[in-house]
Amino acid sequence: MKVAENLAAIQANIQKACENANRNEQDITLIGVTKYVTIERANEAVHAGVTHLGENRIEGLLAKKAEINNAVWHFIGSLQSRKVKEMIDEVDFIHSLDRMSLAKEINKRANKVIDCFLQVNVSGEESKHGISPDNVPTFVTELAQFENIRVAGLMTMAPYIEDEGKLRDIFGRLRNLRDEIEAKGWEHAPCHYLSMGMSNDYMLAIEEGATHIRIGSDLVGPYEE
Ligand SMILES: *Cc1c(COP(=O)(O)O)cnc(C)c1O
Repeated sequence: MKVAENLAAIQANIQKACENANRNEQDITLIGVTKYVTIERANEAVHAGVTHLGENRIEGLLAKKAEINNAVWHFIGSLQSRKVKEMIDEVDFIHSLDRMSLAKEINKRANKVIDCFLQVNVSGEESKHGISPDNVPTFVTELAQFENIRVAGLMTMAPYIEDEGKLRDIFGRLRNLRDEIEAKGWEHAPCHYLSMGMSNDYMLAIEEGATHIRIGSDLVGPYEE
């Protein structure tokens, strides 16, 4: 499939989900996750009109960024503190801030304010990275000391399940947490955004308030080329 065809189908679904939830399509940012595919395939996505790209590995992001112009880059993978200096000047958003030691390193290495999403482990799965929901307000408070970190929003990965009710519950809990933080009006934490929803659950995520959806397989797959 051409990326443009996949994109058209996704855009129709985004529109449908927005209608269902009485939301404005302009409030949804599609991040094309290109971690599984070649630079050429990622470029095809950009030419089809995908302006935000996401990678979960630093090497992949740097290799693609060197060849692809005019994209906004999102780092969506787990981030080791010792690797921050290699990538910090190359990304527009980090979706995986999940601990104080990492915040400290980002703050130290950054040459400007970095927009970060806090990764929250809403589902409580042990295999998942992320701050536990109860600890998020305190974590955000402590981030005020870092002048180079702005809390742009919250991010979560839902488990890979079919149960719509469970997924809605997870997304809804992240939205409530976002509302709570946003309402504080902290200067370092505008926290307007919600990064949630992947290929298998993005319509539900939009209905529950996602502002950033991260789509890989449905956009740039199938991968056998
Ligand atoms: C791979 C990945 C995605 C995209 O997953 P798909 O199911 O292929 O859409 C989204 N978010 C994160 C953090 C990922 O690692």
